[in-house]
Amino acid sequence: TAVQESLRRIRAASELNAVLSEVETGEQVQALERRLAAGEALPLAGVPVIIKDNLNLRGTRTTCGSHMLEEYRSPYTATAVQRLIDAGAIVVGKANLDEFAMGSSNENSAFGPALNPWGKDRVPGGSSGGSAAAIAARLAPLTIGSDTGGSVRQPAALCGVYGMKPTYGRISRSGLVAYASSLDTVAPFALSAADLALTMQTMSGHDPQDATSLQEETRFDGPLDLSRLRVGLVREGQQGLTGGVQASLEQMRSALETAGATVSEVSLPHLKHAVATYYIVAMAEASSNLSRYDGMHYGRRAADSKGGAVPSMLHTREEFFGAEVQKRIMLGTFILSSGYSERYYTKALQVRRLIAEEFERAFEDYDVLLMPTSPFPAFGLGERISDPLAMYAADVNTVAINLAGIPALNVPAGFEAVEGERLPIGLQFAARAGADAQLVALAAALE
Ligand code: GLN
Repeated sequence: TAVQESLRRIRAASELNAVLSEVETGEQVQALERRLAAGEALPLAGVPVIIKDNLNLRGTRTTCGSHMLEEYRSPYTATAVQRLIDAGAIVVGKANLDEFAMGSSNENSAFGPALNPWGKDRVPGGSSGGSAAAIAARLAPLTIGSDTGGSVRQPAALCGVYGMKPTYGRISRSGLVAYASSLDTVAPFALSAADLALTMQTMSGHDPQDATSLQEETRFDGPLDLSRLRVGLVREGQQGLTGGVQASLEQMRSALETAGATVSEVSLPHLKHAVATYYIVAMAEASSNLSRYDGMHYGRRAADSKGGAVPSMLHTREEFFGAEVQKRIMLGTFILSSGYSERYYTKALQVRRLIAEEFERAFEDYDVLLMPTSPFPAFGLGERISDPLAMYAADVNTVAINLAGIPALNVPAGFEAVEGERLPIGLQFAARAGADAQLVALAAALE
């Protein structure tokens, strides 16, 4: 079966470190067989799925790529995952990720980075690097990640697959471990636009467990008629591109024009503040969300936790959180602290509003916006980790989307030869809030 084949491939590709743990499939398969025998028609019957290890699946480990949750077992299943299971999918594994989804290379995982199948000395991107590497290496036909600031689109670009960040609230966040709640989305990877449509359709929809989940239903069908599409090519998104990414952008432009679309440049001047704004909002929210890991409520407790509650909490957090997570908690706490929060946090919320409004205005003139997902293809392991600001700066085109809450996807768009390796390139299309189906239909038309 497909499930057995997927498990065989996961084991054979263990050097990729894409999958942190296998999931016991026996009971899932039996339950599926009973439903099929009862005549249920299931769109994902028997399809193996790998989910990022910050999504809960009842009875399995959910580590979030952290020593803090190394022994944590999920008490319930995330709504998005449950919807896949209800449609017949079988969860076969939990994928590697940057610790608590903080990172752009998967190098912040407490369990070592996943490797890029296109060049094993390179990163798969992050934070959903394991999910991206797994689908690119064909360990499963469908993998799920989470996208708070690009964590599905950027690794999709670096691994040469589709990756979609839905409109905020389109897919329930219930059961996704929170990083920055106002930005977090559950987001799929896929190998074709048709698979993306099916997965999005299956996971989307209102959930009473998530107060921010949207009421409106949406239908994914495609392909889109390109002949009257108005495409805005974002000027600010074109800085510091490699030759290959630049060429791929130009190629996409002429392909769209050949199909009858109009492509013109659009300027979004506030985009230059997106990275600073994003990291202020994300760190502030993270410092609040991660305060629950105190060795009392959730997660592990350090062995030398004598001397009362406070020293015990401090030891626990020092011992089990990695450096990037500790740094973000400290910065986030500072950003929210009295006397500074007006200067940083409140200001960031104001700029966030300006960025969102700038997108809204652009969508009065354009149906979709086009920009590179990442300015460069997959970089080498260890190459950027020592320069966090350079790593953050490369997120410029993805983080703005989360600040605005709008949908965007990565489409595979060719390759660039780098040091004898053939590395994938991805381009990003964004649309107005709610227009998820339009983006998937666009991807189908471009296939
Ligand atoms: N690179 C971004 C960050 O580190 C994006 C993370 C994400 O989308 N989860 O915050």
